[in-house]
Amino acid sequence: MRIITSPAAMKAWAGEQRSKGHTVALVPTMGFFHEGHLALMRMAAAKAEKVVVSLFVNPIQFGPGEDLEQYPVDLDRDETLARHQGVSALFIPKPEEMYPRGFQTRISVAELSRHLCGADRPGHFNGVTTVVCKLFHIVCPDFAVFGEKDFQQLAVIKRMVADLNMDVKILAHPIVREPDGLAMSSRNSYLGPDERSQALCLSRSIARARELYADGVRDTGRLADEVRQIIEPVTGARIQYISFVDRTTLEPVSQADDNTRLVLAVTIGGRVRLIDNGRLAKGG
Ligand code: AMP
Repeated sequence: MRIITSPAAMKAWAGEQRSKGHTVALVPTMGFFHEGHLALMRMAAAKAEKVVVSLFVNPIQFGPGEDLEQYPVDLDRDETLARHQGVSALFIPKPEEMYPRGFQTRISVAELSRHLCGADRPGHFNGVTTVVCKLFHIVCPDFAVFGEKDFQQLAVIKRMVADLNMDVKILAHPIVREPDGLAMSSRNSYLGPDERSQALCLSRSIARARELYADGVRDTGRLADEVRQIIEPVTGARIQYISFVDRTTLEPVSQADDNTRLVLAVTIGGRVRLIDNGRLAKGG
């Protein structure tokens, strides 16, 4: 596995692979790998001959007062884990090479970025689309793999790719969970033992909404009340948003159907912001 740190070297290596006729898949990450990241890498390896994983804690997608400075890092461990998933190149650029002096461009997917996490984190998605667009230009992958864990991010990126005629196929991987249901996240490392059990209210509330949907409940006002009743009594849990949305447009719906997704953001212990989501219909 190659470790590549400069965008120019990354571009050259990826170009070489393509000229040899290899297909290339990219998995963008911020590192501190867990099984969710590794599953994305395996999906990429099953799809393309060469897998590039980018590891970049992208400063422009963090707002003031967010956790950029504390974001967990363990490069040695990440390197070992990536090596075991059939990754061909790990791209670890420096912020000053991604955003040299004078950098001023932003990609904005206006509507899809406005609500949900976009409302709580102004500018976040513009930071994400800008870095992903840069990574696509550096690596020119045939495929790029993203997790459904960040459901709004996935919708925003699919929109950007369609709107800008980008030549990359976006693959989505289902959410990978801990055995007790907690969606895996690098930010779970911020949770103390009590907070770790409080955090289960997210996946429990999704399971409850699915149960009610299976029993025929379609009114999303009623479903949202039931979700609130699970989260609100949990000490330290504060709802940022609960929304039942169409899986493509992310527009809120009043009557749920098989295309409806429950998306949630909850802060635990006043500091750790967790997101989760799930389809109401069985199978995803
Ligand atoms: P991050 O390093 O948190 O930016 O995540 C990198 C990629 O991994 C994104 O496409 C995420 O959606 C995906 N990802 C993170 N956690 C999970 C998970 N638990 N299950 C599936 N994909 C995930």
